[in-house]
Amino acid sequence: MKAPSFDYVRPGSLPEVFEVLENHREDARILAGGQSLMATLNMRLSAPAILVDINRIGGLSGIDLDGGMLRIGAMARHVEVERSPLVARCAPLISRAIRHIAHPAIRNRGTFGGSIAFADPAAELPACVVALGARLVIEGSRGRRMVAADDFFQGLYRTALSSDEVLVAVEIPVATAEARHGFLELARRHGDYAMIGVAAKARLRSGALSDVRLVYFAAGDRPVLAGRASAALEGGPNSADARRAAMDALDGDLDPPEDLNASAAMRLHLAKVLTRRVLEDLVP
Ligand SMILES: Cc1cc2nc3c(=O)[nH]c(=O)nc-3n(C[C@H](O)[C@H](O)[C@H](O)COP(=O)(O)OP(=O)(O)OC[C@H]3O[C@@H](n4cnc5c(N)ncnc54)[C@H](O)[C@@H]3O)c2cc1C
Repeated sequence: MKAPSFDYVRPGSLPEVFEVLENHREDARILAGGQSLMATLNMRLSAPAILVDINRIGGLSGIDLDGGMLRIGAMARHVEVERSPLVARCAPLISRAIRHIAHPAIRNRGTFGGSIAFADPAAELPACVVALGARLVIEGSRGRRMVAADDFFQGLYRTALSSDEVLVAVEIPVATAEARHGFLELARRHGDYAMIGVAAKARLRSGALSDVRLVYFAAGDRPVLAGRASAALEGGPNSADARRAAMDALDGDLDPPEDLNASAAMRLHLAKVLTRRVLEDLVP
């Protein structure tokens, strides 16, 4: 199928973007890397009247350090993030996860911000930013606001973004020497969306885990922070007993969906298997 017809604008500044978004509201759609949007247009799952291309706007890309936070511009391409030594050092969870996104051609165009804004519940990066306690920098004509990743994802492809706002950057607390991370997913083929996956973050001090955050994707309508399983690991060593308790606690945390790829029971079982493996392999 071909996309329905639409108007196209390529503003040169954010205020111009805000003006178009304000004028067209729900009828406008931001075009970043186009790797999800163009597919939804071509399948006629979406029919915006106007596309607002943000590829020429300065200041939306780049990866840098800013006051103890790693700042990844919304228009940073997946490939830039994947190859960034700064990301590898300051947010190793992101480096590990991003290689699982699709294939090189898609990672060359797709953007960090596009993946977060699209909020596919099976996507890797939304789960990672929740696990890392990131904050999202959002701008619109009413000004700038910060939203915690925990509050950003509000349902299936639904976020805290209003139709007249742009996600401009993601800010991630820089990993400390005590930080431990793990990432695993199961997909039928490498590059496919995951059947189930987990992004894990914890602190290891004097042999005890703390600040544990186990976040699952393809496990609900948004990234799912498993509160009970995370709490089961809190304050003790990363022992086989603690891991078993975390796996058992997942019964109360996850209520995964059923689809052509997997039944709900199979997803829950696989989530437990991934949990054991990811905890056995928590790395700096
Ligand atoms: C074959 C294939 C396989 C894929 N596999 C995976 C995978 O395994 N894992 C995965 O995570 N992704 C996967 N993707 C999606 C890919 O990661 C996309 O790059 C990403 O989801 C969207 O980024 P984008 O820059 O292409 O955004 P676009 O497609 O341009 O936009 C996506 C949506 O987000 C909105 N948007 C984009 N940027 C902003 C912004 N800065 N502010 C506000 N709204 C914004 C757009 O309006 C649109 O609604 C796959 C895509 C394809 C085509």
